[in-house]
Amino acid sequence: MSNLRILVACKRVVDYAVKIRVNAAGTAVETANVKHSMNPFDEIGTEQAILIKEALAKSKGTAEIIAVSCGPNKSQETLRTALAMGADRAIHVETDEELQPLAVAKLLRAVVDKEKPDMVILGKQAIDDDSNQTGQMLAGLLNWPQATFASKVELAEKAMTVTREVDGGVETVKTALPAILTTDLRLNVPRYASLPNIMKAKKKPLAKLTVAELGVDIKPRIETLKVAEPPKRQGGKIVESVDDLVDKLKNEAKVL
Ligand code: AMP
Repeated sequence: MSNLRILVACKRVVDYAVKIRVNAAGTAVETANVKHSMNPFDEIGTEQAILIKEALAKSKGTAEIIAVSCGPNKSQETLRTALAMGADRAIHVETDEELQPLAVAKLLRAVVDKEKPDMVILGKQAIDDDSNQTGQMLAGLLNWPQATFASKVELAEKAMTVTREVDGGVETVKTALPAILTTDLRLNVPRYASLPNIMKAKKKPLAKLTVAELGVDIKPRIETLKVAEPPKRQGGKIVESVDDLVDKLKNEAKVL
């Protein structure tokens, strides 16, 4: 396996550290004037592509890493982050329309048809919609094998071996390439982009595509009826002693 082309999906989401608020209409999470960043699982995906490229370089192989993001103009900031981490070029599919996972999967399929990668890496889920659907749908649309929730990846000639964390332990699967890979939290620790690399990333190629150019129907198929905040937590109580705690658990909370 000496030359690989890897597509990495990078979604721009509300930053993981922001306290999420529901909008006044109760129809969505408030995204105006809120810090956004690359979806953390996509940072892991970008890092994995770079690790694969670095490993290949040791055996005189090469890899080209293409970061792809679908969404509004600001998604380009996310792509610049991927480029600063080490992606070679980026593709922005620009739209201000709402994108549901099926729409993103169809857009990514159209990009795959153009770019013919050996592997597409996605996050296991986007932390804003928690859908955990896009990678699986893309695999279905392309009729490619998929290895989801990866916590370890090893590449061999035209194949990859992936360790997955499942409820009962770890499962190891092997699949031929081209294939879809989705990242889990423990796959790697993403690198920070250094200042020189952030500067260099400004000069790396970033191509723009429109939904119309890709000929994809992105109409939402699911209607959100309501978004509500979780119930407010009741204040805690300080107990005087262990006996007091056991008494309260038995007689007030009735959990013992
Ligand atoms: P989801 O199925 O929405 O939980 O998202 C799973 C993964 O699909 C994300 O971690 C991204 O890798 C990819 N993805 C979802 N939406 C987008 C988007 N708008 N642009 C690029 N990648 C996306």
